[in-house]
Amino acid sequence: MRAVHITAFGENPTVVDLPAPTAPAGGVVVDVELTGLCRSDFHGFAGHDDSVFLPYVPGHEFLGRIAALGQGVTGWSVGDRVTAPFVCGCGDCAWCAAGQSQVCPHQSQPGFTYDGSWAEQVVVPAASHNLVAVPESLSGASVASLGCRFATAFRALRDRAQLRLGEVVAVFGCGGVGLSAVMLARAMGASVIAVDVSPGALEIAESVGANRSVNVTGLSPEEVAAKVRAAASDIAEGGRAGTKAAPGSGPHVTLEALGRPETLEAALLSLDPLGRHVQVGLFAEAPQTLIPRVVALELSILGSHGMAAVDYPALLDLLVSGAVDPSVLVTRELGLDQVPDALAAMAGGTQPGVAVIRP
Ligand SMILES: [Zn+2]
Ligand SMILES: [Zn+2]
Repeated sequence: MRAVHITAFGENPTVVDLPAPTAPAGGVVVDVELTGLCRSDFHGFAGHDDSVFLPYVPGHEFLGRIAALGQGVTGWSVGDRVTAPFVCGCGDCAWCAAGQSQVCPHQSQPGFTYDGSWAEQVVVPAASHNLVAVPESLSGASVASLGCRFATAFRALRDRAQLRLGEVVAVFGCGGVGLSAVMLARAMGASVIAVDVSPGALEIAESVGANRSVNVTGLSPEEVAAKVRAAASDIAEGGRAGTKAAPGSGPHVTLEALGRPETLEAALLSLDPLGRHVQVGLFAEAPQTLIPRVVALELSILGSHGMAAVDYPALLDLLVSGAVDPSVLVTRELGLDQVPDALAAMAGGTQPGVAVIRP
């Protein structure tokens, strides 16, 4: 099968022919229809993620159809349309049994701990635990990022931040996961402030529901926080029906989707007392968090790491009902041959919107 292959960190990958995978016991092989190009693919490629062993095939969010069933797999058939979370649980431990396989200690991740979906085929282990059935009515573009970006944003807001109707959320970093968060937060009845340095990304954020957008090019964390607080206050004064915001206040929730220490700092500086910060972006260098402020204002810092397969039906319901349509975030579709250059180009930032790959 054709696949994108990385043999050295940071060096341009190649598209090669590799042996097609066979289904492991309990797992399946999936024919990949669409797969995403996500910021965490770049972290793996650049050598920031110590779970990656060379050589490997990247790619951790995908949509496809089951091509082969491993020994003992029941309840699934060849041809079923499926996706899977980028964190696949072992299916056997207490965390998996509790529906929390996004933190399974024996987890595996396509594109990181084993060969991923930038290929014509990919394996899903522990199929009965990790496979998610995708309704035929949904377009490929609307579900291509369910394995990572869209699901991560959903869980971060609904389950980790416990975002409530009328609250104000500021989303720092409007790449794939950030734009997904903007769209979902509006669908959950919150007001949204989108924060980025890219006019194109902010334009998309506004088109999918951001109430305010803040371009923070060249600003210090203190200056960013002041602008975000001003935007929150502006939303409150605008008197949006049902808003819980008060004039002079900052956001109730911040979500960092970039993984930069100074962006985390700006988020914590902008939060109101009792505010909740959700960290989704992965850091290349360890941040120095503002712990005294976290203590004094009783802030919460919450980690968020994908979403277990068991939680997908509620998200799919939102898509099927038309409440959200992730396909509008897709701005580029690439073939495998275009992926090496697109991956290398991420060192200089990302183009606005979500990129998907059709192997
Ligand atoms: Zn487990
Ligand atoms: Zn990802």
